[in-house]
Amino acid sequence: MTKIAVLPCDGAGKEVVPEAIKVLRAAGANFEFEEFEVNADQYLRTGEPIPAAVWPQLLLADSILFGAVGDPRVNDAAYLAGVLLRLRFELDLYVNLRPARLYDDRLSPLRREDRRKIDLLIVRENTEGLYVGMGGRFKRGTDQEVAIQEDLNTALGVSRIVEYAFGVAHREVVMVDKSNAMTYAGALWQERWKAIAEKHPNIKTRHLYVDAAAMQLVRDPTQFEVIVTGNLFGDVLSDLTAELIGGMGIAPSANINPESKRGLFEPVHGTAPDIAGRALVNPIGAILSASMMVRHLGHSDMADAIEGAVKSAIRAGDCTRDLGGSLSTHEVGDAVSKRLRD
Ligand code: ATP
Repeated sequence: MTKIAVLPCDGAGKEVVPEAIKVLRAAGANFEFEEFEVNADQYLRTGEPIPAAVWPQLLLADSILFGAVGDPRVNDAAYLAGVLLRLRFELDLYVNLRPARLYDDRLSPLRREDRRKIDLLIVRENTEGLYVGMGGRFKRGTDQEVAIQEDLNTALGVSRIVEYAFGVAHREVVMVDKSNAMTYAGALWQERWKAIAEKHPNIKTRHLYVDAAAMQLVRDPTQFEVIVTGNLFGDVLSDLTAELIGGMGIAPSANINPESKRGLFEPVHGTAPDIAGRALVNPIGAILSASMMVRHLGHSDMADAIEGAVKSAIRAGDCTRDLGGSLSTHEVGDAVSKRLRD
């Protein structure tokens, strides 16, 4: 049986992941779900971000359903790095998919003519860039302090993410970088992208600097199909695209390795400490992440059904207040599940 490791972790994650599981069950998913205690309480007690006994269990799972990590009591970066970044790096989940699809016109802050058919995919490099934690601080705490944060880019890392983007695109791949300022890393991205584009003559290609990409995403997001970019720019631009389709509560993501088939699926949002624990958080981002998980596991009919149920619930106004509704977190889970059972 397909084994799903469940890591709700902290804050909003604890509220949205049970709703995603509820919806998966309503969709008929016959999976074995096993939840593990990876969270700030556990970290504060033991000092281990992921307990040593849990790690091998995560390696045995077919996929990981993930909530969000973070806690106001934990202010060292080692916790986030030891949970989410460790999973991404050590499982080599080098593809981070962040789709932005507008399910109802009313959810976009853009003018009516600019919101039609927003349906794009950000393919973010997930294992390199500024997130690898290389660098250091010299003369810390003095007026002469120097802080260095390295931006790691490898030929393998750049090539495989650009290849992946061409593999999923039907019309066009837009490569986003800042090669006019970041000349060394930018040159590597440019060279690999041009070489790979030549192997895909049927897919159009375009290049945008990240500042121009941000502007174009607001001006007319419907012009984009697939955007491929590095770790930092993908993180930033995907918050922007989440806002174009209804906000942080609705945006899903997948972290995958296409070769090993491993995957971790999580909403784009974090722990939402301002609203967590009051049944106000929107579970749709987590539910759509679960739908990405079943698609990755080969059940595309089930994934389509979940997406259809989400779209229908949103259009009927069966949603949390961030999307203009008045339902609680678990009522939204119920509303989506009901549509799958009917
Ligand atoms: P963290 O430090 O864990 O990243 P954060 O508050 O900085 O937390 P997010 O959790 O992404 O970052 O939240 C950003 C904003 O979006 C907050 O105002 C939050 O309330 C809102 N938000 C995040 N997730 C949801 C959700 N599931 N439903 C509704 N609003 C959300």
